[in-house]
Amino acid sequence: MKAAGIIGPGSMLGILGGGQLARMLALAAADYGLRCHIFAPEPDSPAFDVAACHTIAPYDDTAALRRFAESCAVVTYEFENVPAATASVLAESRPLHPNATALATTQDRLLEKTFVASLGIAVAPFAPVGTLQELEAAVERLGRPSILKTRCLGYDGKGQVKILPGTDLAQAFAEIGGEPAILEGFIPFIREASVVAARGADGAFVAYDLCENEHVDHILSLTRVPARIGPSAVAAAISAAMRIAAALDYIGVLAVELFVVGEGAQEQVIVNEIAPRVHNSGHWTSEGAETSQFHQHIRAICNLPLGSARRRGARITMRNLVGGESEGWLALLGEAGAHVHLYGKDETRPGRKMGHVTRIFDMDGHDPG
Ligand code: AMP
Repeated sequence: MKAAGIIGPGSMLGILGGGQLARMLALAAADYGLRCHIFAPEPDSPAFDVAACHTIAPYDDTAALRRFAESCAVVTYEFENVPAATASVLAESRPLHPNATALATTQDRLLEKTFVASLGIAVAPFAPVGTLQELEAAVERLGRPSILKTRCLGYDGKGQVKILPGTDLAQAFAEIGGEPAILEGFIPFIREASVVAARGADGAFVAYDLCENEHVDHILSLTRVPARIGPSAVAAAISAAMRIAAALDYIGVLAVELFVVGEGAQEQVIVNEIAPRVHNSGHWTSEGAETSQFHQHIRAICNLPLGSARRRGARITMRNLVGGESEGWLALLGEAGAHVHLYGKDETRPGRKMGHVTRIFDMDGHDPG
């Protein structure tokens, strides 16, 4: 169902999921006089603190989903693993953006890679794996190293095993729980990057500058903008994101994660995955762009004009505060030019994203990396 018209001040937006992305979306919505209703199963969801109202219920509680949707003008979500049945209950009563096709395509790595490849966009070589025999045949074809990933429910490196020369395949398959999977050829990338972009209901498309991303233990640690990537690879990356968004009839912000391979004239981008939502690598836009990714997403789903994605500053970094790193928050608050965001999570756990800090540099010289 498409948004019938402009959703303006005073309206209620529904957000499925109550983590930091929902929290930052709700804060942005408030800037436009909009209110948010958050639906999440966890009673201590960080987004509840900043929203007009919330529902605590499991994602398969049809009656609660209906009541939630009916209280809102439009519904969106902060995570891609929204069950198909949940999406369809919501979409029956209210516009759901991004749409159910975007969800279905991006929550299954096999569908996602097949879809991206069908647009003529480069992806890692891949093969479906349903059994140990298929894994053996796929490893034979794609070689070692390669990466075995569950088709669904993987994030931050979870549900993944690297197949090295000595790896026992039966053990690797058992490690991912024998779940439906894909094997991906290993891409010897020079860097990882992402395009964060938005598409409006009218087909307007706006991309931010490319983000360069460094991961530690599979979790995003640092984003630098602009990415150290040449103009033709940048253009190819943005064109890929635009074609992906158009093919999905997408409304909202999306992120396309990329591997950058080769150098100079050989430089090329390969799509790793699509996130149908605001993305951690786009957090720098809160202070570093004229319109933050959160405001942009709200604009897109409310049928409002998209804002400028122009960067503010020569160079911008966003560092995640993961686990105990957030304990340095007080010192960070004392640092001139450091923009500190804390997500209000009660419990600090290793690997848990607790906050982030963005720094804007007008001139090259000092590297906080
Ligand atoms: P993903 O869950 O697909 O985002 O993968 C998590 C991380 O694993 C990526 O950010 C890469 O650092 C690494 N990775 C995933 N797939 C590949 C691949 N095909 N080749 C090389 N590295 C990969």
